[in-house]
Amino acid sequence: MTCFCASMETGPRAQTGFDLALTEVDDRLLVEAGSEAGHHVLEAISLSPASEELIGEAAKCIDACARSQVRRLDHARLPQALYDAHEHPRWNDVAGRCLACTNCTMVCPTCFCHTVEETPDLSHQQTAHARLWDSCFTQEHGYIHGKNIRPTIKDRYRMWLTHKLASWIDQFGTSGCVGCGRCITWCPVGIDLTEELSAWLTSGSRSSVTERPVEGT
Ligand code: SF4
Ligand code: SF4
Repeated sequence: MTCFCASMETGPRAQTGFDLALTEVDDRLLVEAGSEAGHHVLEAISLSPASEELIGEAAKCIDACARSQVRRLDHARLPQALYDAHEHPRWNDVAGRCLACTNCTMVCPTCFCHTVEETPDLSHQQTAHARLWDSCFTQEHGYIHGKNIRPTIKDRYRMWLTHKLASWIDQFGTSGCVGCGRCITWCPVGIDLTEELSAWLTSGSRSSVTERPVEGT
């Protein structure tokens, strides 16, 4: 299990922002509506009302799930701790391991980076303008008219994590990480953002150690 939603206070029980929440209890499902749309769905299908016994068992399952999580992310000092860590040598360390494969951004439920592509037809009378999924880990995503603003993997990993756990809070009033752990599961080299964060937070956020250069790909 790679998730750490209990420490992020986003789960395992969905609190807000959902239509239907399903909790598995042995061979039964407890379904809970969290929005008007969810209530409409429940009204349209015929389900037995949940018994007190099922509701109690579901609460126990959720509690057991929270207690079984072995990872934690200490977010009490965020976002400032990450802003202060901008020149920390740990960014070089993680950049030396990261392959910029984009897996973490492809599986993250909150990532929304995209690019746009224009495709003219053969008559040059029409051009299709399409929005496509992209990743901030690609070289191309950092290209802004004549200059790449994130040429190295270090630049890209730092931007990704700092946006997820710091500037996202300033932008949207909430963390960009919900603690699902998918990026940990699918990272081919085993990079774990909870380990990275704890390394920064336990070693002090500012450092004067000289950084070695890291090549981009
Ligand atoms: S743990 Fe956080 S950063 Fe990783 S995939 Fe889930 S929401 Fe995204
Ligand atoms: S999945 Fe791992 S190796 Fe791939 S870009 Fe993300 S952190 Fe880097």
